Amino acid sequence: MPHALVLNATYEPLGVVAPRRAVVLVVSGKAVTLEATGHVVHSVGASVSVPSVLRLCRHVRVPHRAGVPLTRRAVFARDGGACAYCGGQATSIDHVVPRSKGGAHVWDNVVSACERCNRLKADRTVADLGWRMRVTPRQPVGIAWRILSTGRAEEAWWPYLAAFGAEVGIA
Ligand SMILES: [Zn+2]
Repeated sequence: MPHALVLNATYEPLGVVAPRRAVVLVVSGKAVTLEATGHVVHSVGASVSVPSVLRLCRHVRVPHRAGVPLTRRAVFARDGGACAYCGGQATSIDHVVPRSKGGAHVWDNVVSACERCNRLKADRTVADLGWRMRVTPRQPVGIAWRILSTGRAEEAWWPYLAAFGAEVGIA
């Protein structure tokens, strides 16, 4: 059974919970179902529809905003699945300043790239080649991005994640 996306009372994505936990939140009146999975479980003598997206009835304070893990999937999503150099379909991750030249494996030094550009660029910099970047790579922020970077986002979650700035439906 798929996991469920939990939204704050403000609709801000908070995290992902196991289906059993999602059902408990709804049955206990702590959350309401916004999207159902289509699965039904039996709990306290009643049939309960298993949520895919649920919203907490009371607002929860989120103490701090952690960074988004740097994963291949998250880089692809941030860059819209397009090569940062030619705009073609990206199939790889490229270090803008090559690692051999001291470039770090950090959000503002990685972009998605097509195989051709990646191969042509090799150990050179954009300046060496006279290329122009289509985007300036930056670290994405927000929980919606963190959830997306896990690669487990269900289709029913997309509009809720997109509402908080994460581009979904890619990669
Ligand atoms: Zn390319």
